[in-house]
Amino acid sequence: MRYSEMFLPTAREVPSDAELISHQLMIRAGMIRKLAGGIYSYLPFGLRAIRRVEQIVREEMNRAGAQEVFLPMVQPAELWQESGRWVHYGKELLRFRDRHDREFCLGPTHEEVITDLVRNELKTYRQLPRNLYQIQTKFRDEIRPRFGVMRCREFGMKDAYSFDADEEGAENSYRRMFEAYQRIFTRCGLDFRPVEADSGSIGGSFSHEFMVMADSGEDAIAFCGDCRYAANLEKAEVARPGESAGEGEPLPLREVHTPGAKTIDAVCAFLEVSPSAVVKTLIFTADGVPVAVLVRGDHEVNEAKVKNLLGCDLLELADEAVIRAVTGSPRGFAGAVGIKARVVADYSLRGAANWVMGANREDYHLVNVAPGRDFTVTEFADLRVIRESDPCPRCGQRIRIARGIEVGHVFKLGTKYSKAMQASYLDRNGREQTMIMGCYGIGIGRTVAAAIEQNHDADGIVWPLPLAPYQAIVTPVNVNEPALAEAAERIYRFLEGQGLDVILDDRDERAGVKFKDADLLGIPFRITVGPKRLAEGNVEIKIRRSGEVVTLPVDEAGTFILARVREGL
Ligand code: ATP
Ligand code: MG
Repeated sequence: MRYSEMFLPTAREVPSDAELISHQLMIRAGMIRKLAGGIYSYLPFGLRAIRRVEQIVREEMNRAGAQEVFLPMVQPAELWQESGRWVHYGKELLRFRDRHDREFCLGPTHEEVITDLVRNELKTYRQLPRNLYQIQTKFRDEIRPRFGVMRCREFGMKDAYSFDADEEGAENSYRRMFEAYQRIFTRCGLDFRPVEADSGSIGGSFSHEFMVMADSGEDAIAFCGDCRYAANLEKAEVARPGESAGEGEPLPLREVHTPGAKTIDAVCAFLEVSPSAVVKTLIFTADGVPVAVLVRGDHEVNEAKVKNLLGCDLLELADEAVIRAVTGSPRGFAGAVGIKARVVADYSLRGAANWVMGANREDYHLVNVAPGRDFTVTEFADLRVIRESDPCPRCGQRIRIARGIEVGHVFKLGTKYSKAMQASYLDRNGREQTMIMGCYGIGIGRTVAAAIEQNHDADGIVWPLPLAPYQAIVTPVNVNEPALAEAAERIYRFLEGQGLDVILDDRDERAGVKFKDADLLGIPFRITVGPKRLAEGNVEIKIRRSGEVVTLPVDEAGTFILARVREGL
């Protein structure tokens, strides 16, 4: 394409809300423009990157045996009422009424629609398994859209859904998708990690997030430097500590006056003890029932683990009224002794004696608390958030924490939707059985943004070759010199003829401006046609990623680039 004819509005300025470098660069490189909060238009240069990702995704999904469909974005409320999500999905679901006053929503995801389709069409075990996918626009009314297309409201997603007759089949479908995702993100040229994620009630290792490693990522990942263990922070198991010997014999329980000491730090300062010697008591309500959760003062409660242990749907920190009802005191002085609630505690507290904890009385704490003697722990479990340097739950080596961007998610759904919506089939013996489902998503725009987050420098984007909107740009330094213009044209035509996506920078601009734009756009190869080199019959090829410059005869430039593109740079 000739630059002079392109709709490619590059920009020097970026809006003040663009915090992330990928967001800034996507605006500066003329890839996206904001229409409303969390709603973006893709311009031609941006759309090309989107199409590259989609192409890779499509090829790998087809290769894995999934079949493409295209489902409506506007979905009737009835289906969501059937699954129960009309109530549970909350405000991210954008709802509206049509002219007949019927309720609809914009699809944030498509489990309901696909389950409805499949239950109407697939009836026997002979028609299973099936895996259907689409690449489609989703709408989620995110509370705080940010980071450009990384967390927006309207976005493109590849979503796939598998339907199997039995557990073994469902696990096989899951594995195939997991492998397809590994191929997809490898082919995109990204540095990524699959990490275990919380699968709620399903249990087992059947939820993985695919994380692109980036310091700016919203998600924290715990991983082992030695073995392959990696999990998101919410899921990461803490290795079970050995029974600690405690700090000697239990001493007599004592109440101490700790005026105004409502935080762990304040209590520690007051009593001159370390946070690890204090026990934090958090009161939650699990489906409305109060529960006390105990962790060490230097640890954080992991709510996902508490939720899984209790098997509840809704876990919330208790409000002041509940805290008063179960402890008899205001917030900040809760403890387990005399509490009117079930008490669960983190493994790290097992066997420890002489705890410091709230006295359930305003401005008082207890020291030398002994579980068993002074109160009962109903259950010890892994309830805390893993920390840097904790031992790996698999191999015992040190855990490290890094940040990442979730670009994909594979999830075994089990029978959650098929049961609620009666997606069943007849088995070999003519008995009715419930289908077992899996769902598998990839954020297309987020993948492009994550690629830029991981591949840029001070001058602009540095596209991984497979995602580059154009592979090469031919830059005559002065279009008014016929010899330069002609040589550039020849190289441009040759590369286009070979099927490459090429820009000919035919603008009547200073060379410096053109070089800056080429760097900003991140085109992997720039062929510079200048008077000095051309007088010797040569041109210069600059490789964006390495900065390497190669001088070659005009007629060899094209074949050099072709070869490099074919071997992947
Ligand atoms: P997150 O925790 O980041 O909100 P999610 O768990 O809601 O993600 P899924 O429902 O699993 O995400 O959706 C599948 C994929 O869709 C995600 O892995 C991500 O790549 C993409 N995605 C989800 N929400 C957004 C969004 N608001 N903007 C852009 N992409 C998104
Ligand atoms: Mg989300």
